[in-house]
Amino acid sequence: MLNIRIEKTANPKPIPGPENPLTFGTIFTDHMFIMDYEEGKGWIDPRIVPYGPLELMPSAMVFHYGQEMFEGLKAYKADDGRVLLFRPDCNIKRANDTNERICIPTIPEEDFMQALNEIVKIDQAWIPTKPGTSLYIRPFIIATDPFLGVRPSNTYKFIIILSPVGAYYPEGLNPVKIWIEDEYVRAVRGGLGEAKAGANYVASLKAQVKAHDAGYSQVLWLDGVERKYIEEVGAMNIFFKINGTVVTPMLNGSILPGVTRRSCIELCKQWGYPVEERRISAEELLKAALDGSLEEVWGSGTAAVISPVGHLREGDTVVQIKDGGIGELSQKLYDTITGIQLGRIEGPKGWVVEVK
Ligand SMILES: *Cc1c(COP(=O)(O)O)cnc(C)c1O
Repeated sequence: MLNIRIEKTANPKPIPGPENPLTFGTIFTDHMFIMDYEEGKGWIDPRIVPYGPLELMPSAMVFHYGQEMFEGLKAYKADDGRVLLFRPDCNIKRANDTNERICIPTIPEEDFMQALNEIVKIDQAWIPTKPGTSLYIRPFIIATDPFLGVRPSNTYKFIIILSPVGAYYPEGLNPVKIWIEDEYVRAVRGGLGEAKAGANYVASLKAQVKAHDAGYSQVLWLDGVERKYIEEVGAMNIFFKINGTVVTPMLNGSILPGVTRRSCIELCKQWGYPVEERRISAEELLKAALDGSLEEVWGSGTAAVISPVGHLREGDTVVQIKDGGIGELSQKLYDTITGIQLGRIEGPKGWVVEVK
């Protein structure tokens, strides 16, 4: 059990009301959780303090070599007022897998859970309730040693900040256009692809700008070695429904193991769909799109939950998926997962955890 010191803000900010259109990640709540790590002492001084700037040395290692990890999950307000987290145990396990990969000391799972619970509880009035809105939770860890040599840091800060976020698609589910990237790669096996680290995002910016400039909202990455096999979208995993079978790239070391991905697989299996986690090439995908066997494409991730894809482009080939609209299974997954998150639908055991 952490002994969390609580310092409440003397100047609470106005909480945006339901008339306020929320965007993603621009507003932050009144408080944040912080815990420090020191070699020999472990994780120390857990505290909840007013949200505000950090003081770090310009030589802090995170600024130079990017030793940083993050997580992302959401809290929801159920109709009966309960505050619910969606599969936080999966995020906590993945956080420690990331920590292992980038030489950050792990955090005991129960301490992580307690930190999430306490910070969300303190700022729970900030959880918006309009359909599609939620409180986004961003835990992250930075390396803070004031040192310019290259090695793992001996000191860290673990921080959790909270942001009320709006519906990803304010008009409901909206199909996106994705760009299959054949020049840049995001990750390679043996690299950081399966870790949730900021470094992966730096590697992705150039292609994202390129795709945006061409009118595409997301990049679909190919494998970094052969540049043939599909990996994932910007911050989402990817699914295809081909001839009634649900296909998603298998976790191969360079793909982020999404909690939403896992939830989609588990639900589709429960509903009786054949699900294949395997290698799938861009060539196979385009062929299926052209011969009509590609029935649906969707991305899965915490931010948008399910993001139907209406349109794909690789090089000079542009294909529309069916009528470019929202597939039936995509819609069913979206409705079911968001229903479970809001406590309206009974999900598999342990998927929602109440903040108390
Ligand atoms: C976070 C993330 C995802 C989605 O994971 P969820 O746990 O479903 O939110 C997919 N790809 C990348 C690169 C990510 O960082």
